[in-house]
Amino acid sequence: MSARIIDGKATAEKVNAMSAARAARLKTKGIEPHLAVILVGENPASQTYVRSKERACEGAGIRSTVVRLPETCTQAELEQQIDVLNADPGVHGILVQLPLPAHLSSDQVIERIDPAKDVDGFHPVNMGKLAIGMPELVPCTPLGITVLLEEYGIELPGKHVVIVGRSRIVGRPMALLMVNAHATVTVCNTRTPNLSTITRQADILIVATGHRNTITPEMVSAGTVVIDVGINRFEGKLCGDVDSEVMNVASAMTPVPGGVGPMTVAMLLSNTLSVAERNAR
Ligand code: NDP
Repeated sequence: MSARIIDGKATAEKVNAMSAARAARLKTKGIEPHLAVILVGENPASQTYVRSKERACEGAGIRSTVVRLPETCTQAELEQQIDVLNADPGVHGILVQLPLPAHLSSDQVIERIDPAKDVDGFHPVNMGKLAIGMPELVPCTPLGITVLLEEYGIELPGKHVVIVGRSRIVGRPMALLMVNAHATVTVCNTRTPNLSTITRQADILIVATGHRNTITPEMVSAGTVVIDVGINRFEGKLCGDVDSEVMNVASAMTPVPGGVGPMTVAMLLSNTLSVAERNAR
């Protein structure tokens, strides 16, 4: 039997419609929600991601500004730009598009952003709040996954959630969100022995490795809910980290494209609005 499709595109459209209503409400109070994005250099993938964020903001009635800095900019110049945005009361959300050119420290950049405007949720203050179960601004991809699970009525308390990948952007915050939601959580990495023994125990399997076909059908038990975070390009097409044949084993699964991806941008808008709403209060 084929898995139920967890449709991220449709769910993101719903979230974006709510965001548009939230933005409109703020405007009646004289507040224009505003996201500022810093883009360093000419990385084509980064330019595409930034354009899609701009388009999404426009669709929801959120102002967006892109600050473009040359590939050669220094750490001090980049941080000075962040300071300007931190100090601007008209800017609610700040994000620096990653990855940065190799001579720049993304850790220092993330720490320079005012945690109250850190709509990517990567600042140690925001990660710490998530870790102690008092989340404020939560990283967009894992947050979007929790919204997807809720939308499809997939309950978390008492469930065994297995996460493959432990990055700062996806795996780690995902694990914290699942712990906060009363799931039993296992996090795997490249040194995990017998990965399939663990993945087969999952009620919900979340995969973010950056490698096509990390998870194949024999690694998944019948009835598992599978969330595929991966975005890979293979033979000119987009594919995830999970073999598409897993659709025949899982009870529900996100497609790639059209699964987790659209939720990430939707949550970025939602986080920006949360900051603007908090300021309005
Ligand atoms: P990273 O490369 O930062 O992290 C990958 C993680 O996966 C690491 O922790 C690594 O382990 C682990 N890993 C890799 N291979 C295996 C394996 N065979 N078995 C077990 N663990 C493994 O990637 P990201 O988290 O940034 O991204 C992961 C994927 O998600 C990418 O395809 C990326 O494009 C996609 N992505 C999609 C987003 C979306 O909006 N849909 C947003 C962000 C990312 P170790 O720590 O030991 O190296």
